[in-house]
Amino acid sequence: MKPHVVVLGGNFAGLGSAQKIRETCGDSVRITVIDSKNYLLFIPNISAEVFENRDPSKTLKMDIASALDEDGVEFLQAEIKAIDPDKKQVDFIPNERPGSAPDTITYDYLVVAVGNRLAYDKIEGFAEHGHTGSDFYYGNKLRHFLANDYKGGPIAVGSARFHQGDGTKDIKLYGGHAFPTAEAACEGPPVEVMLSMASWLGRHGKGGPNKITVFTPANLIAEDAGEEVVGKLLGIAGSMGFNYVNNGKDITRLTKDGVELANGKKIEAELKIVFPDWVPHDFMKGLPISDNEGFVVTDVTMRNTKYPNVFAAGDAAAITVPKLGGIGHAQCEIVAKQIAKDMGKMAADEADKPLEPVVYCIGDMGNNMAFYIRSNSWFGGPDQILTMGHIPFLLKMQYKNLFFKNKGKMPEWGLNASILLAEKLLAA
Ligand SMILES: Cc1cc2nc3c(=O)[nH]c(=O)nc-3n(C[C@H](O)[C@H](O)[C@H](O)COP(=O)(O)OP(=O)(O)OC[C@H]3O[C@@H](n4cnc5c(N)ncnc54)[C@H](O)[C@@H]3O)c2cc1C
Repeated sequence: MKPHVVVLGGNFAGLGSAQKIRETCGDSVRITVIDSKNYLLFIPNISAEVFENRDPSKTLKMDIASALDEDGVEFLQAEIKAIDPDKKQVDFIPNERPGSAPDTITYDYLVVAVGNRLAYDKIEGFAEHGHTGSDFYYGNKLRHFLANDYKGGPIAVGSARFHQGDGTKDIKLYGGHAFPTAEAACEGPPVEVMLSMASWLGRHGKGGPNKITVFTPANLIAEDAGEEVVGKLLGIAGSMGFNYVNNGKDITRLTKDGVELANGKKIEAELKIVFPDWVPHDFMKGLPISDNEGFVVTDVTMRNTKYPNVFAAGDAAAITVPKLGGIGHAQCEIVAKQIAKDMGKMAADEADKPLEPVVYCIGDMGNNMAFYIRSNSWFGGPDQILTMGHIPFLLKMQYKNLFFKNKGKMPEWGLNASILLAEKLLAA
């Protein structure tokens, strides 16, 4: 009997973990992936499609089952209901058709990669007055609004408050740096949307950056990118005419007329594009593997501190702050190496290299331009790089093309080539 690895979630971190585990462990393990949908949602490029008036569901969807099948990984389409780490079992309901009976699956190793709930339902007035770009439904809703209903009024773009949880309190990074606390889950998207929205306004003869106010719950927007990088970004944005509101604390409600913030400020806006709190799924709360919010507690090798056969990767992990696919990508490799070590397929010194998170973000700016950030200073690392131009835009599009072509398997040289192109050539 081969050890059974069950991976919960099949988007970036789930698919990536399954593929990396197969690569490092060979056929020494049996692998099953469970997800409630049978396709990968390529989230980071949704807004780029929307601002070009293209339906993102036509270009940013990839079949998970066939990608996994290439690696001999079984796929179950089902709604995960509960995890019991003591019994080593997961309860689920197959959801291909309504009416399926609840079932269970047992595991030797569990990888929790279920992401989070993007809690728009916690923002009062969002359904009536809000827009966003984190899935195909909302992307298309925004696309139709821009094409048919937008009258040229002011625009607000920003985030709700994030609740980090206590799962990071004992983690030290980059040789001893205390784990920082974030007030927003992921502020690359609002920065990207504000810049590409301004390009859209220009292209459609509806104005420019001075119509847009970007707001953050924190003292500094996208603070995890490093103060130097954000300082440069804010300098550029300010000189272009964008309005900036910091220390908003949270979104209290959206109304027809704008956004009301928890610090008492009101931002007038016809169009409100917001990003919510990233909240763990209900079935993750109160588990012995979870922190006080429901994020999975791990050490820097992505192993749960109480249950050594349980791992987490991607947004579901407490250590993934900010909630960035790039950080999840590095975690998939670490999870795979840890399981390979247990299988006797990898030496401890190679497998035990700790996670060193990097904020690696390429954001669309419209007009075939993008910004590129590679920074680890917030975590205690030495780097803070920001570049802008056409090359980062090409890299963003190339990354997506390569991802689809290779069914999620990104070659190592992909990242190195990006660094070379965006940092060295652009700087030259
Ligand atoms: C607008 C936006 C833009 C972004 N841009 C970038 C970017 O440029 N670069 C970057 O690095 N990151 C970016 N991110 C962050 C990135 O999208 C996430 O970090 C990444 O998607 C996390 O991957 P994941 O696999 O952990 O979680 P997810 O992508 O959320 O996947 C979780 C999976 O689990 C499944 N699942 C959840 N609950 C259940 C259940 N009960 N039963 C069965 N299946 C379940 C879901 O169906 C889903 O497939 C962006 C995020 C947003 C919202």
